[in-house]
Amino acid sequence: MDGSMMGIERISAGRKRLSLRMLAAFALLPFFGSVCIAAEPKAMGGAGMPGGIGLEPRQAIADASIPLDRGLFYSVYRVVRGDTIGAIADRNGITTDSIVSFNDITNTRAIRTGSFLKIPSQTGVLYRPKKGDTVEAVASSYSIPADSIFEANQLSRSSLEGVGAVFLPDARLPSFRLREINGDLFRWPTWGGISSRFGWRTDPFSGVRSFHNGLDIATNMGTPVRAAMEGRIRETGYSPTFGNYILIGHHSGYASFYGHLSSIGVRQGQSVALGQQIGLVGSTGYSTGPHLHFTVFKYGGLLNPANLLH
Ligand SMILES: [Zn+2]
Repeated sequence: MDGSMMGIERISAGRKRLSLRMLAAFALLPFFGSVCIAAEPKAMGGAGMPGGIGLEPRQAIADASIPLDRGLFYSVYRVVRGDTIGAIADRNGITTDSIVSFNDITNTRAIRTGSFLKIPSQTGVLYRPKKGDTVEAVASSYSIPADSIFEANQLSRSSLEGVGAVFLPDARLPSFRLREINGDLFRWPTWGGISSRFGWRTDPFSGVRSFHNGLDIATNMGTPVRAAMEGRIRETGYSPTFGNYILIGHHSGYASFYGHLSSIGVRQGQSVALGQQIGLVGSTGYSTGPHLHFTVFKYGGLLNPANLLH
């Protein structure tokens, strides 16, 4: 079954095209706001709308014959079972980045059947300027010509102060950001059975309830342990709890920790690639048998590794 095109909405008024600044204004509304959306009234109930805004469907358009012009507009797509953002993007001849940025998607694995997506007619990124941003600075960080931003958004000055959102034609999201959104940031540091999950548990030695700040992966002694993400070795050492351990610092505040190793194969300050072997599974420290204790931090806060590994 294919997803149904719920309607099409043009950012244009009659034959007069509105500027992309108008698009930006629309895009800032929780979901379309006042613009006209075509839909089957029942299907559009409102409950499944991102942002939780109920829409009053006004007319069924479902008119794929509306001619494209050079302006940017978007259609509305209803997600069906089995859809992925990548497949939807491919079918529409645009990049995943476009759909992600137009819909403020932070986790592509969490898109739900029945939810609605804006499908822009052009490839590019919808960008929300930060304080002090200029067209030139944004152009440079996305490696696109500044002129294309001026033109697409009909901007006349460099400062993006007070501009809600700008369309960056043909821009791609930083690959790191895309991996993060796609849930592809981390890879399993080793293979084995999960012997203890993240969260509260009864201590295997003392029987006392305690918080387990990582994931335990049980496997054979000497199995390679690999960097779960590229980064730089921040620390290696020995602790009575975690035995031989390695701490890797990554992009964007992420860090990962590997404990109970039988050997450490890297040194502090060394850069490591994703998947590079850094040590071997062991049972050093406070451990009942060979396993890897794996913890992930973001800006010092704990994350549940199970949510990051797929
Ligand atoms: Zn553990």
